[in-house]
Amino acid sequence: MYNYVIVGAGFVGCVLAERIANVLNKKVLIIEKRNHIGGNAYDYFNEDGILVHKYGPHIFHTNNKEVWDYLSKFTEWYHYQHRVLAYVDGQTVPMPINLDTINMLYNTNFTPVELKDFFEKIRDKKEEILNSEDMVISKVGKELYEKFFKGYTKKQWDLYPSQLEPEVTARIPIRTNRDGRYFTDKYQGMPKYGYTKMFERMLNSSNIHIMLNVDYKDVISNIEYEKLIYTGPIDYYFDYKYGKLPYRSLKFEFETLDCEKYQEVGTVNYPNDYDFTRITEFKHLTGQKHFKTTIVREYSTSEGEPYYPIPQKKNIEQYKLYEEEAKKLDNVYFVGRLANYKYFNMDKVVEEALNLFNESIK
Ligand code: FAD
Ligand code: UDP
Repeated sequence: MYNYVIVGAGFVGCVLAERIANVLNKKVLIIEKRNHIGGNAYDYFNEDGILVHKYGPHIFHTNNKEVWDYLSKFTEWYHYQHRVLAYVDGQTVPMPINLDTINMLYNTNFTPVELKDFFEKIRDKKEEILNSEDMVISKVGKELYEKFFKGYTKKQWDLYPSQLEPEVTARIPIRTNRDGRYFTDKYQGMPKYGYTKMFERMLNSSNIHIMLNVDYKDVISNIEYEKLIYTGPIDYYFDYKYGKLPYRSLKFEFETLDCEKYQEVGTVNYPNDYDFTRITEFKHLTGQKHFKTTIVREYSTSEGEPYYPIPQKKNIEQYKLYEEEAKKLDNVYFVGRLANYKYFNMDKVVEEALNLFNESIK
């Protein structure tokens, strides 16, 4: 007999299991269909002994002190700040666009104030920001939009920015200073011994049992429990009764090279060249020392594991039908990126899980 069954051992599942087991001293069963814990943040040492992220590069960053302090109970941090370059017009320049990006690209010598004036001149003044294209051109105009955003977004989503809600490209700031970090959050870092080690420490309790390699639908009717926490895709829970929610998936191509370093920074984006969107070299992220190095190329696809909910109005409307069904259920909580059909970062889902625990879980 379990007090809680949790479907999914990702960030949300691990945080809630830890809280319920250790604070409430209640019994939890986690059911996970993959052969490992950690969800999309799962990492492992590959055959050459290099720590890699199975489901693409995951960099932790947050402005939420409560989230940072909470995770810090289970890990020390490697204080890494992510840097990204974009390969544009035959050279690699800082991304997000900043003062150095523009001066390198146009061979200019702008100061921050001059760059502000330049953006003011080239930007398309929009009354309303209706989509992800408006979001960019209202700040930097069409030419920079085409160089940095149009091709990348088409590759990533198989949609043009004009077909996506503004929030997608709004993730990427435009800067007039020389800050070359991808994120500017107050707390940034990588779990010092990896995400999986951190999750193992969270789940280390005799109150927590874990079933791997099992789809919850195959076993749930044989389990006695009081409440269910569901972190899988919401449409699957309801047997797709309102149709399948569309997701973007990815194919990852890993390669280990016989050299210490492949590229200058953690990630290089390729908005206009090749079929992949970006190349990440893990040793930059983890700080690991090794005589070889592993990189991953990301190819976006429509088939495969559900990774990215697609932020389009019609999909959000479809999700709302499921959300209404979910609200009618007592004793089932829908939490996380798949259950909420939202493009959430890791810190956001941890925040959501902690809030749910504090407000509703007894
Ligand atoms: P998940 O990690 O998806 O966990 C859900 C779990 O439920 C999965 O393990 C799944 O197997 C399991 N499950 C689903 N259905 C069933 C079922 N029927 N039965 C049993 N188990 C089931 N965020 C950042 O903050 N920084 C980043 O750099 C970053 N990079 C990312 C890169 C990529 C390529 C992707 C796809 C996402 C990235 N994210 C990043 C987002 C991050 O992955 C998510 O915020 C986080 O993983 C969400 O956690 P979750 O617990 O909600 O879901
Ligand atoms: N984007 C872009 N060019 C880039 C980087 C990002 O057009 O060089 C757009 C693209 O639509 C992408 C979105 O901004 O999906 C968010 O980028 P982010 O790096 O946050 O994507 P994630 O890491 O979540 O895949």
